[in-house]
Amino acid sequence: MKRVIVTGGSRGIGAECVRRFSERGDKVVFLYNKSLNEAEALSFETGAFGIQCDVSDVEALKAALAEAERALGGAADVLVNNAGVSLIKLLSDTSDEEMLSVYNTDLVAATVAAREVSRGMVRAQKGYIVNIGSVWGRVGASCEAVYSAAKAGLRGLTLALAKELGPSHITVNGIEPGVILTDMNASLDGNTLAELCDETPLCRLGEPRDVAEAVLWLTSGKADFVTGQCLGVDGGFGL
Ligand code: NDP
Repeated sequence: MKRVIVTGGSRGIGAECVRRFSERGDKVVFLYNKSLNEAEALSFETGAFGIQCDVSDVEALKAALAEAERALGGAADVLVNNAGVSLIKLLSDTSDEEMLSVYNTDLVAATVAAREVSRGMVRAQKGYIVNIGSVWGRVGASCEAVYSAAKAGLRGLTLALAKELGPSHITVNGIEPGVILTDMNASLDGNTLAELCDETPLCRLGEPRDVAEAVLWLTSGKADFVTGQCLGVDGGFGL
């Protein structure tokens, strides 16, 4: 049994991770922001404990992580930095508020959470951190400059922390999904989704379970010599 924290656990990829960790017998706390109904339903379904917190608010995030570790009964063994928002817009049309909101949610929050949670991991001399990046963090997307930059930043965080925390037997890895069928892509029309599918060598779009499977493996004990890797779970989309 591992003590697990998942940020952004109320929907999509995060919710699937919560389900899979719970099935594995782990004790799970997840953070969510706006989706109270989904969070309550997920807690009922899995027994995982949900904490409402806007992760882009650093003080609120620190308080929520402390509450999460109290609920878990000790330092977390696993942190999945999954909470994220996308922004599809020309950079020239992007306001300061929009830019900072994406950076704070997708990059600053993951950095703060890694800092807070890794302290207990270092004391325990074990742990797993998984950062959910994006294929866009590697190859960049037109009209998604801020999102791509935030996800590229996560790559740097993963690489640096793998070196910094390795001597404490903590692995730090990234997962960089391609196009995954979640609410994040709900605004894309059928033609766009079909085009994205055509660009994916495995000829299908991803499901949250594709990403959750990789998260479960990285934190299973079977991947303990794997660190500092950013694993594409993208059907070959980023090749
Ligand atoms: P969804 O939009 O389906 O879910 C996003 C989750 O993040 C929700 O649980 C949401 O909580 C939470 N969240 C967003 N903002 C905040 C915040 N400020 N504070 C706390 N929680 C927050 O997205 P996905 O499941 O698709 O995405 C999960 C991760 O995967 C993200 O980091 C995303 O960038 C990444 N990704 C997704 C891809 C895709 O194609 N879907 C591709 C590549 C990467 P709530 O609803 O409660 O506010």
